[in-house]
Amino acid sequence: MTPNSDPGSRDEKALFSDDNPGPALRAAQDDTKNDERKRKMTNIAFIGLGNMGGPMAGNLVKAGHSVSAFDLVQESKDAAAEMGVGIAASAQEAVANADIVVTMLPAGKHVLSVWADILPAVKPGTLLIDSSTIDVESARKAHAMAAERGCASLDAPVSGGVGGAKAATLTFMVGGTASAFDLGEPILAKMGRKIVHCGGAGNGQAAKICNNMILGISMIGVSEAFVLAEKLGLSHQALFDVASTSSGQCWSLTTYCPVPGPVPTSPANNDYKPGFASALMLKDLKLSQEAAQAVGASTPLGAAAAQLFGLHNAWGEGGTDFSGIIHLLRGRGQA
Ligand code: NAD
Repeated sequence: MTPNSDPGSRDEKALFSDDNPGPALRAAQDDTKNDERKRKMTNIAFIGLGNMGGPMAGNLVKAGHSVSAFDLVQESKDAAAEMGVGIAASAQEAVANADIVVTMLPAGKHVLSVWADILPAVKPGTLLIDSSTIDVESARKAHAMAAERGCASLDAPVSGGVGGAKAATLTFMVGGTASAFDLGEPILAKMGRKIVHCGGAGNGQAAKICNNMILGISMIGVSEAFVLAEKLGLSHQALFDVASTSSGQCWSLTTYCPVPGPVPTSPANNDYKPGFASALMLKDLKLSQEAAQAVGASTPLGAAAAQLFGLHNAWGEGGTDFSGIIHLLRGRGQA
């Protein structure tokens, strides 16, 4: 199978499927083999030590793993080294003795390039986990590349942001076979609090972009309601008190309220410091639109949300929290 082969093809479905476990004895033997592999899986390689990857690698060290890591940026390597992460001279060197490799990189092109670089250097049978947020198509290509090398793989994007990465409270949305998930789950649990198996290859990324499309749309909806309330002379608190206990209730309102006051911990009370930056929201909305086009799904509100966040970012707001979209809806200059 080539890395470009159709992820929906019969061969690839068979490759990514655990639907045919065979007789009970064989399953028990497989379980024992997996348990043995899990016990041995202590050496971890980590590629990409940025805002998220650095603290995630640090948490693996705290959990007692030997972590060998690589990044292109010296500052990131220095910060990780202070947390006890071993720094290798190259990505290939980092993975040479690893039982599990985790990548945490900006986008799909980086993941495919790093995986192409490291796959010839990993031990056969190594589990590769990509936790970056990337497009579904690239995620499925990465799985196919790993399979060609005889390696198990997972796409395991996260939510929870830098705070969650530091506190090891991330949520992982995971795609891959049941046996790969079984191998990877204990390691992911050292970096996160909730680990959800979403199905086969690429389904972790699919879950991530669907969730964030809901989030982008709902934040715009909540912001529009506050802007309308302001024009109608209705106070922020009054709208919050009604909507938070009525059918308008949602996370964007009750946890991340885009106006200061009703939810004291929301970024609106901290000058819209992220939180979850508008640039990352735009990235995820673009990924959801690419995916929607690829499969012919109709997502008109997702498309509108991507346009609005594009405009917001073009005004230089990429580094502020995404709930600051309310400023765009009020008309800039009236913030
Ligand atoms: P970041 O830019 O801080 O870190 C990415 C790191 O990858 C950088 O240190 C960069 O030097 C490194 N890198 C790039 N190419 C490399 C290569 N070829 N070899 C080795 N290292 C390389 O980004 P981040 O905030 O840590 O995010 C990482 C991923 O997690 C992204 O896909 C992002 O969308 C996703 N994510 C981020 C957040 C967040 O709040 N920051 C939340 C959820 C998901």
